Amino acid sequence: MSEQLQVAVVGGGIGGLTAALALRARGLDVTVFEQAGELREIGAGISIHPNAALLLQRIGLTDPIKTIGTPITGLRLRTSLGEVIDTALRPSSGVQSYNVHRAEILKLLADAQPDGTLRLDHCLSRARETNGGVQLTFAHGATIEADLVIGADGIHSVVQREIGLKTYPSSEGIMAYRGLIPSERLSWAKDIGGKMSMWLGKGRSFLCYPVSSGRSINMVAFVPTNLESDESWTAPGDLKALAAEYAGWDDPVLETIGALDQTFRWGVYDRAPLSYWSTSRMTLLGDAAHPMVPHLGQGAAQAIEDGFTLAVLLEGAKRQDVPRLLKAYERLRLERTGQIQTMARDTGRFFRAEYEDVAERDRLAAKWMAANAWIRGHDAEKTAQEALALLVTTRRSDEAPDFRNW
Ligand SMILES: Cc1cc2nc3c(=O)[nH]c(=O)nc-3n(C[C@H](O)[C@H](O)[C@H](O)COP(=O)(O)OP(=O)(O)OC[C@H]3O[C@@H](n4cnc5c(N)ncnc54)[C@H](O)[C@@H]3O)c2cc1C
Repeated sequence: MSEQLQVAVVGGGIGGLTAALALRARGLDVTVFEQAGELREIGAGISIHPNAALLLQRIGLTDPIKTIGTPITGLRLRTSLGEVIDTALRPSSGVQSYNVHRAEILKLLADAQPDGTLRLDHCLSRARETNGGVQLTFAHGATIEADLVIGADGIHSVVQREIGLKTYPSSEGIMAYRGLIPSERLSWAKDIGGKMSMWLGKGRSFLCYPVSSGRSINMVAFVPTNLESDESWTAPGDLKALAAEYAGWDDPVLETIGALDQTFRWGVYDRAPLSYWSTSRMTLLGDAAHPMVPHLGQGAAQAIEDGFTLAVLLEGAKRQDVPRLLKAYERLRLERTGQIQTMARDTGRFFRAEYEDVAERDRLAAKWMAANAWIRGHDAEKTAQEALALLVTTRRSDEAPDFRNW
């Protein structure tokens, strides 16, 4: 039997595909199994903040991302009437961040997978640990064996269920509309360069930023809802209902809504942080492990951090090391991602408020900037390398050391 670990990644989203690249870069044999017959992402943007951009840079993806991304040059916060809130949010680590179109980054990651290592049309239905491995069964009946399985299968994760976890969606009581508008249709977008714009108001917020090298503006509008909207990202939205939500807001908001051809809406949910997410040979990453509301733009970034952490820990590992390494991974990632899940909710509350007390608003803005600096300044690979060194020095123990108080 080959000594190289055979890793099965379930889910070919941003998290799974990036993890596969990071793991292969450290010599592991990885296959990605994706349920869809073709990779598709809905038309919407995503920010690659410095903590993720740094890691992608290390596997040679900066140049390809430059060709599809718009460098982020700042974020301007405004009140619903357009008054600028001075936050001066600046890059925290010197690493350039980008806004990209989701479909474009997904294609880029898929194209970077070696031939035969991304298996489409493979919907996982069952995962069972065997003696020293895992057997995966797919909906069409095929089975495969792997030394370990990484569930990168999103918010409705089958791997999570097979690990024995049960989680329940928790609504923020808000719904989001999303859409893309050609930049040339928007008079206010002419001179924005790479700037993101966010308007804050009572119970609502409105975010715009350029994607596709500036050709399109991505808009996300968060509004209150009593609807039990599902977690779909693609349900069609009503443009008139959207416009009514923002009546009386700043002109660029109204102009943006007026320029939309269509919009999609989705219910914003997360799940309470898990207390564990691994067995001996199965673990989770990304939304399968720690789904978060999108107000910090960190969901994919945290999935990317997970993948690189796993890659550092698993490099050169033997089969018998897998259970303790997965435990170490979980301990390294649980607290940080749990904190970010909470911060993302707090950020949403900060964005969806109208402040009569400007000092209170500025206090919250400063708190939010500090949270961002902490999140974006993190180097997940370096942290994992330091943890691994500690793990090696405590090798005789069956238990991985507790990294939580680092
Ligand atoms: C509006 C919005 C804006 C966002 N903005 C940002 C942002 O700016 N920055 C950021 O970092 N994050 C952002 N996020 C969050 C981010 O998109 C998600 O956290 C991220 O996509 C999660 O990636 P993932 O790979 O874990 O899961 P997913 O992208 O959900 O991928 C899961 C994959 O698994 C596949 N799959 C599911 N079940 C099975 C199965 N049984 N068998 C095989 N395959 C399966 C699915 O088809 C899918 O391809 C945003 C999210 C939203 C909704």
